Formats: sequence, C-alpha cells, structure tokens
Amino acid sequence: MNNNILNHRDLYRLPWTLPDNAISWLEPTSMCNLACDGCYRDNVKDSHLSIDEVKHHLDVFQKLRNSDCISIAGGDPLLHPQIAEIIADIKKRGLKPIINTNGKALTKELLKELKKAGVYGFTFHIDSKQGRNAEWKGKNEIELNELRLKYASMLAEEGGISCSFNSTVYEDTLQYVPEMIDWAHKHIDIVHTMVFIAFRHVIPNMPFDWYAGAEKVDWDKIMYHSNMKRDIEILSTDVLAKVRERFPEFTPAAYLNGTVKPDSFKWLLTERIGTKDKIYGYLGPRFLELMMIVHHFFKGTYLSYASPSLTKKGRTTLLLLWPFDKGLRKALLNFLKNPFRIFKKTHLQTIMFIQPVDFTEKGEQNMCDGCPDITVFKDELVWSCRMEEQNKYNTWLRTVPKKN
Ligand code: SF4
Repeated sequence: MNNNILNHRDLYRLPWTLPDNAISWLEPTSMCNLACDGCYRDNVKDSHLSIDEVKHHLDVFQKLRNSDCISIAGGDPLLHPQIAEIIADIKKRGLKPIINTNGKALTKELLKELKKAGVYGFTFHIDSKQGRNAEWKGKNEIELNELRLKYASMLAEEGGISCSFNSTVYEDTLQYVPEMIDWAHKHIDIVHTMVFIAFRHVIPNMPFDWYAGAEKVDWDKIMYHSNMKRDIEILSTDVLAKVRERFPEFTPAAYLNGTVKPDSFKWLLTERIGTKDKIYGYLGPRFLELMMIVHHFFKGTYLSYASPSLTKKGRTTLLLLWPFDKGLRKALLNFLKNPFRIFKKTHLQTIMFIQPVDFTEKGEQNMCDGCPDITVFKDELVWSCRMEEQNKYNTWLRTVPKKN
C-alpha cells in the first residue's frame, strides 16, 4: 500500500457536498447487456423505470441537491426505450445529461438521435472483465484501446460531445493503467477524461460479520460478493504509484476524502495540459479551485464535465491563467521552450482515480465524502454503489468486527 506518497493538505479538496454537488446519478434501468465482474447492480430484465418515475427521481434531485450534470447509468441506460426522451427532459431542466454506458447498444443512428435530444457527454465503461464477446473476447486492457478509440472517434465525428472512459482496476489489471494513460495522451484531442475505479467486493475471510439492523446477514448473500479471496484493497495511491513508475512527474491536484478518514483519496483528480505529442504539465490545486469557484459564481453549480470546446482551450488557459497556479506556470515554461508550439492545438485532459468503500479495523465503512454518484431510492439520496443493500434489506449493512 502506498498511503504516504501524497499529502491531502497539498491538494484542493473538491467542494462537493450532499446538497451541492457537481454530479447526481440517475438509474432509469438496472437491465444490462453485459455482466461486468465488478458490477454492483442486480441485472434485472425489463426493469426500466417509466418516464413518470424518471421525472420523479429528477424532481427529488432538484429538490434536494444542486447539480451540474446528471450521470445516466444503470444497468445500461441505452437499453431504456425512451432514453432520448429522458435526455431531452434533463436538458430542459438546465442540467447536463451524461450517458454512462458499456457502448454495446450505441449505433451511429442512436448517437445522432441522442445528440439531437441534447446529450452532453458519454462515459464508456470498457475493461477486460465485462464478458464481452466476439472480437473483444479475451482481450486485455491494452488491446481494448482499439474499442475505446472506436467510440471516441464516433463521438468526435458527431462533434461537440464530451468523451470519457472508465475501467475497473483489478489486482491483475493495475499493471496496464500507465499504458492506458499513455493511450489517452495520444488521443488528448478527442478523449477528455479517463477514470480508474478500484475493484471492491465482499469476499470470504473478511474479519467482519454483516448486519441489517439487528439481523445477521450471510456475507455470500450480498449481491456484490466473490467466492474467492481477491484484492479488494487497491487504493488510489496504489494506482498513482504504478502510474508514477512510468510518468514520475504525474501530479494530482484535487481530491475527495473519506467519510471516516480525512486523509484518504476516495476521488483523486489529475488535470494535465498538452498536445498529442507532449504533455506540458500538470495543473495545480489553485487552478481547480478557480474553476470551481468561477463556475459556481456564474452558473450556481460546481463544474463536473467540461465541454470539448473548453478542453481544447489549452493555449488560452496557459496564456491567461498562469498567474494563478504554480502547475500552470511550469506548464507554460515548457510550452514556451518551442515558439512554434503557439500554433499547435493544446488540450486539457482529466485523469481520475476512484477508491470506493474501505473498511477500518473497527468495522467503519469509509465512503466518499461528498459522493457525486448519489442516486434516489424511495425519495431519499443514497450511494449508488450500495443501492442493492437498500433494495434487499431496506437499510445499509453494518460491518462488525468478528469476535476472536
Ligand atoms: S460512495 Fe460509492 S457511489 Fe459514491 S462516489 Fe464513492 S464509490 Fe461512487
């Protein structure tokens, strides 16, 4: 474990909270056309919410929470027969609709229809443990870059749509993260964000008993469990350490802490600036602070996904904002080493590491403080990563250290 390679007090704590957050998480269906190893939702056929139910969830968000964008997830939201209508409704409410999908159901025609409805961005979940078939069967993370590029190119061709990818990081796939980050650099003009989420499951031999209220629950009856012992303790800092083996200068700027541990990096955000040939530098905490404050001041919400028209304004960012941020100043010096660079398109790109629930020895569950992926369950805001507990037990499961 690499807990000590970063000091949280050197980074900007993203200002996201329960009532005022950059993101909210809508699940219009729990039906999916893949079966990801690390998935935390029960795949239920034809479990689509009606349009009225979707509208009600959006009303609950708007009553309880300020949001910049709505991540539309599931299940796979593209399987919802009225997905275009859902997007149009979100847009009409002044929110940015972002589709979180495995991409399998996306066609050029559907993309056109969703763009017309007002889709703002896509986050494609692509990794090697999703049970993809045909040409993608058995491909590793690096080979899957071809599939990532297919989707990034589709969006770029359509134009004006934000493009992100996320992957679950497992013990045996952690090794591929630096190469994936390098791939993202080569496509910095069309790939705006890469997200890496550490795998979590309930596994045998955890030193806890599980309780729903006063009722003891068998660990292997919990939806997200594995019968084998697996690594469920990968930290954001482990991912960072792996990335730094290849890119020693890789420097995060902002984070979300844990609800129990203030110095844990539940969300760890790195912002870099460069061209397809060269990364000029990593932006610092001040830049992120400025972005959040300015966005909140003028728009009333904290920024989540930046538009492609903004992420390609790398040169303007370097030339105008350098007085505010040390990272930007360093990047500007690199940029100015070659005067011809002034003619090259320069882009911003976000790399995020996410570390879901961790357990302390006392059995406390360290969740993301200011969780952006909060969803609605029975008119309340709940963590989307643990909604199956609410579904099945109508409460959060507690972990109690086993008696010796
Ligand atoms: S608490 Fe769960 S749902 Fe919320 S951001 Fe963390 S991992 Fe995602």
